[in-house]
Amino acid sequence: MNEITILGAYGTKGEDVGTSAFYIDEKNVLDAGNLLIPLKERSADIENIWLSHSHLDHIIDIAYILDSYFVSRKKPLKVLGLPQTLQVVKEDFLNDRVWPDFSKITLIDSDLKCVEYEEIEFHKRYTLSDDTTIEAYKTDHTVPSCGYIITRKEKSVVVSSDTYSLDTTIEQIDSRDDINTLVVECSFPSRMEKLAYDSKHLTPKLLFQKLKAMKREKIDIYINHIKPLFLEEMTEEINRFKGDYKVKILEDGEKIIF
Ligand SMILES: [Zn+2]
Ligand SMILES: [Zn+2]
Repeated sequence: MNEITILGAYGTKGEDVGTSAFYIDEKNVLDAGNLLIPLKERSADIENIWLSHSHLDHIIDIAYILDSYFVSRKKPLKVLGLPQTLQVVKEDFLNDRVWPDFSKITLIDSDLKCVEYEEIEFHKRYTLSDDTTIEAYKTDHTVPSCGYIITRKEKSVVVSSDTYSLDTTIEQIDSRDDINTLVVECSFPSRMEKLAYDSKHLTPKLLFQKLKAMKREKIDIYINHIKPLFLEEMTEEINRFKGDYKVKILEDGEKIIF
């Protein structure tokens, strides 16, 4: 079965809600907003973190899984992302001032470093396992950002991550029949359209307006990155604006089958 698990579904942390993270398989996660608590000791087995961008709600648990499971790690943790994203992680986060620079620290009883970095390129397919690949495409946020297409057994899910424009996401969906599922962000209620524009996020109204440009009609849509404070208001709006689309608002721990 093709599935990914939502480790964190929301746009900010709150009581029992985590920020963006997707469990692809036992070695790979997309974003690191919420790894430590849902994965516990399985955090030590994660080998690759595929980052969409450098905002804190997508990177924070890199720090905590390294700190908490340092002793049980057998292999380096590889942090993958756009060059600009990795630059921020190195210079502004794991920099020996905010948190240790784990790329200088070796694993216990090993010459290998705790962290390695790898820059990714748009539209290059990276192999995760015998049947799974991942590919990045450019999105539209306040910092350089990418969405990801995860393909398993010739079926794919697109994760837009944080974005204001959906043009490139729709371009991917309309050009690839293998994509059957879209995970798209929606952060603020529609009355906060200016804040959404300034912070390069979507509202329910903007989301479904923009999706009108998509030619594909049959696609499962999952919404993430809602700010929990507005959950009730935005749920009502999503139901009002969704039209004929099959839409589900994601929760932590949920699995997406694609
Ligand atoms: Zn962001
Ligand atoms: Zn975010």
